[in-house]
Amino acid sequence: CGIVGYVGGQCALDVVLAGLRRLEYRGYDSAGVAVLADGGLAAAKKAGKLANLEKELADRPLPSGSTGIGHTRWATHGGPTDANAHPHLDNPGRVAVVHNGIIENFAELRAELTDRGHRLQSETDTEVVSHLVSEAFSSCGDLAEAMRQVCRRLEGAFTLVAVHADDPEVVVGARRNSPLVVGVGDGENFLASDVSAFIAHTREAIELGQDQVVELRRDGVSVTDFDGNAADDAVRAYHVDW
Ligand code: GLU
Repeated sequence: CGIVGYVGGQCALDVVLAGLRRLEYRGYDSAGVAVLADGGLAAAKKAGKLANLEKELADRPLPSGSTGIGHTRWATHGGPTDANAHPHLDNPGRVAVVHNGIIENFAELRAELTDRGHRLQSETDTEVVSHLVSEAFSSCGDLAEAMRQVCRRLEGAFTLVAVHADDPEVVVGARRNSPLVVGVGDGENFLASDVSAFIAHTREAIELGQDQVVELRRDGVSVTDFDGNAADDAVRAYHVDW
């Protein structure tokens, strides 16, 4: 239901949790975060309120890193359990994906992945995306390109945000029929389903267009369509007066 992504010089977990708190008003049934740190990826997710996730993080702290993503879930496929909460990881846990919306052709994609030997661990429509992005990244070595390849295969409505432990300074987002906004900072950049998640840090926003993929680094934002054509003309940048 709510999505936050961050890359920059601050503690990503703090920025992401604060962003998720700003999105709480939308309602949700579970929450989760992933951070890239020490060459790996660490995630925590819990059914229930953000307070449950915060208790989990207090009991089992994540290593601190400066790239992270977070999600509040409103379940559509699979009940509101810890296992179905986002982020969803690939196997062996190098990719993390959060998703708002519905992947309509997930059953077909899941069957295909299972045939290729993937073991999926949740009942969500989302988890197929983590495994597909992981496969695509293994062959192309570029997270934005991997996301574009996967998005071309997806049907439905989605905002997707992904990170990969092998490309730790990058956050990638994609959208179709579901909102995604970039917050442009100084040496840091944000992604969210709603500007309120990052308004405490920056008021410079770029609204992603339909069927676009964004690659976020500390010092740059680049947007393409799902085929990889630069989409700078179509990008809508604005200053948030609030
Ligand atoms: N369809 C996904 C799920 O049920 C995402 C739901 C959402 O938008 O929060 O896990």
